Amino acid sequence: MARLVLKFGGTSVADLERIHNVARHVKREADAGHEVAVVVSAMAGKTNELVKWVQDMPRVAGANVPVFDAREYDAVVASGEQVTAGLLAIALQSMGVEARSWLGWQIPVRTSKAHSSARIEEIDGSELVRRFELGQVAVIAGFQGIAPDNRISTLGRGGSDTTAVAIAAAIDADRCDIYTDVDGVYTTDPRIEPKARRLDRIAFEEMLEMASLGAKVLQVRSVEMAMVHGVKTFVRSSFDDPDAIDSSPGASPPGTLICDEDDIVEKEVVTGIAYARDESQISLRRVPDKPGVSASIFGPLAAENVNVDMIVQSVSEDGSRTDMTFTVPDSDVARAISVLEANREEIGYELVQSDKNLVKVSVIGIGMRSHAGVAATAFAALAKRGINIRAITTSEIKFSVLIDSEYTELAVRTLHAAYGLDSAA
Ligand code: ADP
Ligand code: ASP
Ligand code: MG
Repeated sequence: MARLVLKFGGTSVADLERIHNVARHVKREADAGHEVAVVVSAMAGKTNELVKWVQDMPRVAGANVPVFDAREYDAVVASGEQVTAGLLAIALQSMGVEARSWLGWQIPVRTSKAHSSARIEEIDGSELVRRFELGQVAVIAGFQGIAPDNRISTLGRGGSDTTAVAIAAAIDADRCDIYTDVDGVYTTDPRIEPKARRLDRIAFEEMLEMASLGAKVLQVRSVEMAMVHGVKTFVRSSFDDPDAIDSSPGASPPGTLICDEDDIVEKEVVTGIAYARDESQISLRRVPDKPGVSASIFGPLAAENVNVDMIVQSVSEDGSRTDMTFTVPDSDVARAISVLEANREEIGYELVQSDKNLVKVSVIGIGMRSHAGVAATAFAALAKRGINIRAITTSEIKFSVLIDSEYTELAVRTLHAAYGLDSAA
């Protein structure tokens, strides 16, 4: 007998038939004698709809300026998960499985005060565990918790993954299975590259990079949490036939295991390719080339919570002026430019330019630590395809290139092939 957390994402609970299918997966595990907590997302598309309602309401109500109350945003967008948790509990009861739904505040899942992007701080799993002993399945609404102000909080988009891993850590589960619409973690997004291969295992560090660099199969914080608490996490498909899976104790689930680096026998130099859309490039032309100039640019941007990513400073021709180029998410561009304009005199630049709709493509692999020249392969392959690189960043186990968005698919596929990741078929 094992203690399991099963998480089902939006596509897996998109309608009543799919929720019934999820209930069959849950029943299979419960029938095998396991203690089961289930974490659910909202039905596919529901959270987007709720977010849009929150955005549209002030305008419809006649406001002239945007009105945003993060606590009310959370009250609205958390409701999607409440619906699926209740529906799944009903489906399970209809199939003879004892189950009840749990909202974040009922457990409770305590979070930070950062409404709309709160962090989980503490979970009391004792009541869930007590009810396992009575044979009850817990169906938990993902993505939500309760903030110190006693109001509902949400964890940022994709946050149900983090709920699942955090619950698994809190109840000391043997495993956390993330069921989704793909049957594991692939060498790159299989929607972009059909030749992507499923990985049997991926190291925590690599998964963390993949998720941070755009592979939305897992929320970044869920990977951090799994790494810190040593949660054995699998990514697997909810579309497999629930009756064709062996749930007996000791059986290894189909899918990808996220694990310690030491548990991977064959370490590849490159494990995967990720991409992140909606990047913008901002260039400050003819900035004084003197100590303190970076602080005068990036200090005010940080103070306004502008998320700066890649930074490139060109060598000045005459030793007095230089260009500073950096990237921010598209959604931060307007704010970044107004901060830079407000600090124009202090910084002393001549011109500010911006380009929207760029893409960051990244190559990830722990093997890069011990291999030189890995990035050179990418530069040559991209050049051969005529893809211009606007900026480059590198670190121990990854490097990224910034390119124009029209080349996204071509760049991902080119790099996938260049590092020998294409499947044989
Ligand atoms: P869920 O609704 O179950 O949380 P998501 O849409 O958040 O599912 O994540 C699953 C999606 O992640 C897949 O449909 C796939 O397109 C995308 N994805 C991106 N990169 C990868 C990758 N490397 N491996 C697997 N899936 C990936
Ligand atoms: N429903 C939320 C979202 O769409 C959380 C999740 O699905 O993980 O972002
Ligand atoms: Mg997700």
